[in-house]
Amino acid sequence: MKLALYRKYRPQTFEEVVGQEPIVQTLTNALRLGRISHAYLFTGPRGSGKTTLARLFAKAANCFSPKDGLPDNKCLNCQQYNAGSHMDLIEIDAASNRGIDEMRELREGTKFSPTQSKYKVFIIDEVHMLTKEAFNALLKTLEEPPSHIIFILATTEIQKVPPTIISRCQRFDFKKLTIDIIIKRLTKLAKLENIKIEPDALRLIAASAEGGLRDAESLLDQAGILKDKTITKEDVEMLLGRLDINLVLEFIELLSKKDTKGAIQYLNNLISEGHDITLFSKMLVEYARKMLVVKINPEMLESIAPECAKEQQEKLKALIGTFELKELQNFAEIFVGANTRAPRIPLPILALELAVVEFLSPKS
Ligand SMILES: [Zn+2]
Repeated sequence: MKLALYRKYRPQTFEEVVGQEPIVQTLTNALRLGRISHAYLFTGPRGSGKTTLARLFAKAANCFSPKDGLPDNKCLNCQQYNAGSHMDLIEIDAASNRGIDEMRELREGTKFSPTQSKYKVFIIDEVHMLTKEAFNALLKTLEEPPSHIIFILATTEIQKVPPTIISRCQRFDFKKLTIDIIIKRLTKLAKLENIKIEPDALRLIAASAEGGLRDAESLLDQAGILKDKTITKEDVEMLLGRLDINLVLEFIELLSKKDTKGAIQYLNNLISEGHDITLFSKMLVEYARKMLVVKINPEMLESIAPECAKEQQEKLKALIGTFELKELQNFAEIFVGANTRAPRIPLPILALELAVVEFLSPKS
């Protein structure tokens, strides 16, 4: 069986972890100084490296011959961790083990010493999913942790974790990864896997992952299976169920020129060229939002439209300049309405045609 990219290239050393430098720094310092605490809380968005760092930390804490606190990746302990089969690492997905019985069982488990290493490490993923009773049971364990236990709790929704739990843990806030960091990582993986992919295609994958490395790596994986030749931007658009951004920009340009006839013609051409009009409508809504936000705060252009190449961002910026804020507000409201109606009527294009007329006709 082919191993998924994100599993195959999961970082084995702290140096390989991308985008969370301050956290890596603090954790490796603690390891060097032997100041290991009994409960950690990793919070942050999906795919930002929480589980990866939790496993690395567990491996390092148990390494038989650490080098300056860091795992040697050679000893039996490290080998077992790298193979994903360590007796003293217990990973619990709280999304499917949320009850008090599971937490009681876990508490019983903490009473036994690790079988072969210094620490028994419990990683509880999606910890916010636990029930109230389960949290209480967990809290009891956190209040008097046996010295051979390390808890690493991970969550994407810190606001759902009780303050009593948070205050017992050393907390680390993981950041959403920037698009440049994701692109760099994907470029490296593509090279290792001999996947040939255009830079624009890679950018689109990175942008669509919204800061999550795992999603980005899965998408690259899927794109890599598509074919043996170079993966193009069009391939990725197809994979993501998106259309070429230029189609959206050209259409908005017609609206900015108040060209009703041209805009209606454009929509009909899209259909005769075989494009999916409901997808187009969805992307229009997406860009309506981008335009509105950038009109209010021009500095957000790059962060809100990372999927756009440089010249597309310039074009978008120029288009935004042709509209008043009030017009962009109308634009968003009218095309959101059209997008809601489009799938429910026999001719989805009509919803967009009506929207064009409504947007370009001066209100009487
Ligand atoms: Zn080791």
